[in-house]
Amino acid sequence: MAINLKDSVQFKDIHISCVHSGTWTQPNTGKREKRSIKIGCPFGIKLACGKNCNYLEIKKVHFEHNHQISEELFKNYPKNRKPNAKEIDAINNLINLGCDASKIVHEIQEQTQKRFTVQDLKNLKKKLPDIPKIPKNEQEDLAFEAIVNNIMKDSSNFIRSRKDAKGIMSSLFFVLGCQKNWFEKFGNLTHIDATYKVNLENYVLYIFLCQDSSLRGIPVATCLMRTEANENMDFMYESFSKVYDTNKVEVIMVDKDLQNLELLGKYFPHAKVLICTFHVSNI
Ligand SMILES: [Zn+2]
Repeated sequence: MAINLKDSVQFKDIHISCVHSGTWTQPNTGKREKRSIKIGCPFGIKLACGKNCNYLEIKKVHFEHNHQISEELFKNYPKNRKPNAKEIDAINNLINLGCDASKIVHEIQEQTQKRFTVQDLKNLKKKLPDIPKIPKNEQEDLAFEAIVNNIMKDSSNFIRSRKDAKGIMSSLFFVLGCQKNWFEKFGNLTHIDATYKVNLENYVLYIFLCQDSSLRGIPVATCLMRTEANENMDFMYESFSKVYDTNKVEVIMVDKDLQNLELLGKYFPHAKVLICTFHVSNI
């Protein structure tokens, strides 16, 4: 059994082994017992120079492991979960934006397909240099920028923003490409729902929802606004009518607190406005 390499033998010998080969003993430091990856796995292939070093000869093969192997387990190995320099930068940005750990882990898993864990994130944080904290208002600008950049990546998405007289963003309206189909199918009944104090600056989050055939609410548009001033509300409905044919909306369900109801007639000319009984019964 010989591989003839004649002119190109680069190594005198090669030993391929499993990451679990070898053994490890805990130094007697009195510290808590650690687990080691080294569990004496016998898997290995040994190659060594043959006669006159003209070729490598297979000296020994052992194809059995002393542990389970599978693609799933392989993906979970610390080495394969480890983010590269570019991914570490992205993680660092998310940490600085004040994202919570589970969201960062989810994002990294989605982007890299690596089995990055919350514990990996904790370990990584310890190694990262202490970066001066970004002031909260700047954090929000960065968060907005990240949202906008992400939405703009896909040309089927729609995004529009409004600035006030001082050049500060007062509303951000967006619709994702996939949401357009939902409105096409279920848009005749549209809910408009507001959530308050969604972030540090107390922005209001408006969501337009339709109901699918199993009556589950599905979002078809989102708008963040600094205040519910008439200009911002008008901007939101106007943006909605730029994306969707609002003539087809027959019923609009709103909660009792919805401001500037008269604007609905301007942008949804054929819709009946109903106040949601859920919100009324919760008064
Ligand atoms: Zn092994």
